[in-house]
Amino acid sequence: MYKVLARKYRPQNFEEVCGQKEVVEILKKAIQFKRIGHAYIFSGPRGVGKTTIARIFAKALNCIEGPIPTPCNKCDNCTEITNSSSLDVIEIDGASNRGIEEIRSLRDNVNLLPAKSRFKIYIIDEVHMLTNEAFNALLKTLEEPPSYIKFFFATTAPEKIPPTIISRCQRFNLKPLRREEVKRKILEICKMENVEIEDKAIDEIYEFCEGSLRDGISLLEQLIIFSDEKIKYTDVINLIGYPEGKSIENILKNIVDRNYVESIEIFYKLISEGKDPILILDGMLKKIKNLITFKFGVENVDISDDFLSYFKDLNIEKIFEGSNYIIEFKDRIRRDKEPLLMCEILILKLIQLWGKETIKEKESELVKQESEKKSEPVKEELETIFNTVGIKNEKNQIEEKKDYKEFNWNEILKEVKKLKPTLEAALREGKLEKIENENIYLIFEKKYNFHKSMIEKPANKITIEKIILDYTGKSYKIIPVLDENSKSIIENPEVKKIIEFFNGEIIQMEE
Ligand SMILES: [Zn+2]
Repeated sequence: MYKVLARKYRPQNFEEVCGQKEVVEILKKAIQFKRIGHAYIFSGPRGVGKTTIARIFAKALNCIEGPIPTPCNKCDNCTEITNSSSLDVIEIDGASNRGIEEIRSLRDNVNLLPAKSRFKIYIIDEVHMLTNEAFNALLKTLEEPPSYIKFFFATTAPEKIPPTIISRCQRFNLKPLRREEVKRKILEICKMENVEIEDKAIDEIYEFCEGSLRDGISLLEQLIIFSDEKIKYTDVINLIGYPEGKSIENILKNIVDRNYVESIEIFYKLISEGKDPILILDGMLKKIKNLITFKFGVENVDISDDFLSYFKDLNIEKIFEGSNYIIEFKDRIRRDKEPLLMCEILILKLIQLWGKETIKEKESELVKQESEKKSEPVKEELETIFNTVGIKNEKNQIEEKKDYKEFNWNEILKEVKKLKPTLEAALREGKLEKIENENIYLIFEKKYNFHKSMIEKPANKITIEKIILDYTGKSYKIIPVLDENSKSIIENPEVKKIIEFFNGEIIQMEE
C-alpha cells in the first residue's frame, strides 16, 4: 500500500504554498490589478514549488470567478486543472523527448481559441531542455502572442535558456526552502496523517532534502512506511544511510597520508553498504568545516585530537581549497557523469592538495591544465592525474584477481535486495528491455513513474551500477525509460469519471 503524499498535500491556492512569499505576493498583486504578462519564468532548484505555483497561477487566471488571486477550487475550470485534465492548461515536460512533438502541436494550435476558459496556458517544465528548433517555434509565438495565450516556464537551469526567450518573460527566482518552512510543512502532514515524529528527525529530514520540499516529503513517505508508531531520529539515519563518522575520518586521514588505495577502498566499502556518495561527501565537508572552525580558534568543536594531528601542518587556505573541490564534485556527481570515477578523481585531487609529501610545482601545474580541459573524457582525466601524482593504480590490479560472473539480471537483483530491499522492489517494476553498449535499458509503465524516479536518483543508480560492477567486473549504466504508450491509472477514462464525480483525487494505489 502506498500513499502519494506529495499529491495529496499539493497546495491548491497561493496561501498554501510553502515559502516563496515574495513571488506569491507579486503574482497575487499582478492578478488583483490585472497586470498580467504573457510569459513567466520560474527558476530555482528542484522541489521548491515552481510548477505548483504555475498551476495555481493558471487556476487563478482561468477560475470562473477569475482572474482572482484566490481561485475557488470548486468550478469546472479549477477542478480540471487540479486533475490535470483541463484542455486549456497544457503541461509539457521539456525533459522528455525534449519537447519536439509537443512544441510542434503548440505551434499548430496556438491560433485556436481556448476551449472554454479565458486563457490557453502552456506550462513547460524544464524548459531549458527544449531543442533549438523548439525554442525557435516558441520564440515566434512569444514575439506576437495572441492575447489569450500565456506561457509559464519552469526550469532548474535558467542559464541554458536562450536570452531571446528570457528577455520576453517576467522572471521569478525561487529559493531553496528554509528550515522552518520545511519543518512546518512536515509537521502539518504528520498531524494530518496521525503520525508522531521526533523534532530531531525533522531536522535530519531537512538536512537531507537541502531545501527541496519534494525530496523532504518523499523521504517522509518512506519513513511512514518503515517506522513503527513514531518516526525517530535513528529511523531517518538508518533510512538515509549516513556513513558513520569514523569511516569518514579514515578516508580523510588516508588522503593526508597519500594512501590512495586505502581511502578509495573505504569509500567503496561505504557505497557497497548502500551509503549515498553525496552523503559521504557531505560527511567529509562536515569534518572539514569542524576543522576550519577549530583552526579559527572556536572552542567546543566536535573533533578528535587524533584527526586534528593529521591536519596540523596544513594551512587554512589549502583546507578551504579542498572543501571547494568537494563542493564542486558533489555538484558534478549530482549531474551523474560517471559518478564513481568522479569520486576517485576527487580523492586524487585532495591527495595532491593535502598529501604529506610536497609535489613538484611543475607537476601540479600540469594536472591543473589537464583537468581544466573540460571536454576531455573523465577516464583520461583520471589517468592523467594518476600519472602526474605518481600513484600506481593498484586498486585495479586488486580487482582483476576477483572472480567475476556472467551478467545475470535475477542474480544482480538478489544482490541489490541484500543491500536495499526497497531499491530492489523498485527495480522489479521495470522490465529489462535490452542491453546495448553496456547500457541497461529498463522500461517502466507510467504507473510506476515513482519507482523509475527512485532509480534515477544518483545515489541509487550508483549503488546498482557498483553491484553490477562487482558482479560482472564490467561497468554498466542503468537507463530507466518511461513507456509512453502505457496508460497511467489517472488517464483511465473510468477512473477519470469517478474522480470527477466525487470531485476527488487519487491518494492511494494498490496492485
Ligand atoms: Zn474556480
